[in-house]
Amino acid sequence: MGKTKVGIMGIAGFMGRMIAKQVHENPEAEISGGTVLRGSAEEGVEIAALCQLEGVTVKTVSDPRAVISSSDVVIDFTLPAVTVEHARIASECGTAFVAGTTGLTPEQEAALADAAKNIPLVYAPNMSLGVNLLFDLVKKVAGALSDDFDIEIVEMHHKRKIDAPSGTALGLGKAAAEGRGVSLDDKGVLSREGVTGAREAGQIGFATLRGGDVVGEHTVIFAGPNERIELTHKATSRDIFAAGAVRAGIWAAGRKPGLYSMADVLGL
Ligand code: NAD
Repeated sequence: MGKTKVGIMGIAGFMGRMIAKQVHENPEAEISGGTVLRGSAEEGVEIAALCQLEGVTVKTVSDPRAVISSSDVVIDFTLPAVTVEHARIASECGTAFVAGTTGLTPEQEAALADAAKNIPLVYAPNMSLGVNLLFDLVKKVAGALSDDFDIEIVEMHHKRKIDAPSGTALGLGKAAAEGRGVSLDDKGVLSREGVTGAREAGQIGFATLRGGDVVGEHTVIFAGPNERIELTHKATSRDIFAAGAVRAGIWAAGRKPGLYSMADVLGL
């Protein structure tokens, strides 16, 4: 079987460049193209120069359809509205899709699910093995404990991050809610300020920290009477997300249409 042709949407971004490097180093995959923002300094630049890779002859483009139609799969870490538009084009072209962008609204998530009727689409707020294991652990612990244990989720990320709480923190909240058999929409408290009143039993609270170059840290606290359980994941390099995205891309190419998660990709 030939190499999987991988297109990288937003190749000039932090994640885009790392994904390009990992695709290039993967013997099962090759870079089929990369998009950048129209009119940006990176438009029309050799991907080899942009990402410091040897032997890649393709140049960046700003037309998403050009990359999507010539790829087996595209990996997208851009902006919510951009990712949704790219997924729509991918569903027209029959190209598999990996969506790593976070901060999507429920409507935007529904649009991805719609695109997934025609193509295999992996959507995951966090592509690391450790965090996906943590989702499972949190669900189990939440299911085992009663409302006497208050669930709070604390996350910290670098100062460039534009959405809060992080997609991963929300994913952990969803896992906790599923474990308890409730909905995060009903029980989630995404931030607190001022005279909030006492904490209601059953709430799932969030606290967001931003600063420096922190790659991503999440702790789920189960605070009960006289004891507390804390489950923590710390990412020390974005490599884990890029590696997960490339693995998801190779896994998705040629699979039957559907909306998949990292748990599907990792066989968890
Ligand atoms: P970034 O700002 O460095 O990169 C985003 C890139 O997208 C930028 O280069 C921007 O120019 C480009 N872009 C925007 N609109 C575009 C368009 N129309 N066409 C082409 N390119 C376009 O951000 P980042 O740190 O790489 O993160 C990107 C996203 O990935 C964020 O939502 C972040 O939260 C998410 N993320 C997800 C995971 C995961 O595991 N799922 C891990 C890390 C980051």
